Amino acid sequence: MTCMRNVFHAYILIGSEEETTEKALELAQAANCNDDGLPCGFCDCCRRIREGSHPDLFHVFPDGSSIKIEKIRNVILSASQPPIEGRRKIYVIHEAGKMTQDAQNTLLKTLEDPPTASIFLLLTQNIKNLLPTVVSRCQILDYSKLDESEIPIPGDVKETLMDIIFSRPDLSKIHFYVQKLTGTEIDPDVLMEFMAGVYRDLLVIKTKSRASIKNREFLNRLKEQAAKFSPRALVAAIDTLYSQIEAVKSRGNANLVWFNLLLRLQEQEVI
Ligand SMILES: [Zn+2]
Repeated sequence: MTCMRNVFHAYILIGSEEETTEKALELAQAANCNDDGLPCGFCDCCRRIREGSHPDLFHVFPDGSSIKIEKIRNVILSASQPPIEGRRKIYVIHEAGKMTQDAQNTLLKTLEDPPTASIFLLLTQNIKNLLPTVVSRCQILDYSKLDESEIPIPGDVKETLMDIIFSRPDLSKIHFYVQKLTGTEIDPDVLMEFMAGVYRDLLVIKTKSRASIKNREFLNRLKEQAAKFSPRALVAAIDTLYSQIEAVKSRGNANLVWFNLLLRLQEQEVI
């Protein structure tokens, strides 16, 4: 867990409600722990965050099937006030995909110009239910994947993935790419994560978000290509990638998973 002192104001946590809630509490602790750097987990602040009795931690739950605009308005009003005793106020929005369109648009305005002492954590299993503009203003933390080890992806493999994203391959080309990708030593989920990061970068550029670009090495190319994509298509692509990352875990066959992924991206007219 990284120190959160000067980092982002909004995160999307993808994964099960249980897993993402756990991570959200860790982030809330990291942002407010009396210890420097990592959350200690034992101090009064950490303990009360876990118990749900810290005055700067707020949980927002859906009322039935939706989170309505009134609820988000209250969140925003509260977020504009300084923290009571911690450094940051933390708003954990559970099942964030249930926010109505109006609620999301209201939140969006705050994400564009966030109060300095507040952090918004949007928990969801499916980012497809969030507006592209909202997604583009958040850092994405994916807890649905298996392995968190970071193996660097070789440059030529990155190039292949960029080619797939930008060249709109036909079926014969897809076969070619699948063979190429299954021949690499990097796990498919790591490569798919990279692709999702590229789509997110495109979304950031597309929606003129002030969030940071992850793959800065490709910045020029990303800027050139962003016009080709619609925000909806980009969110659909990110969603497809995360669901295929799930599939990598349950099925072992990388060949099939890649083929399905590329076919689905083609059907969605993303590649
Ligand atoms: Zn602590």
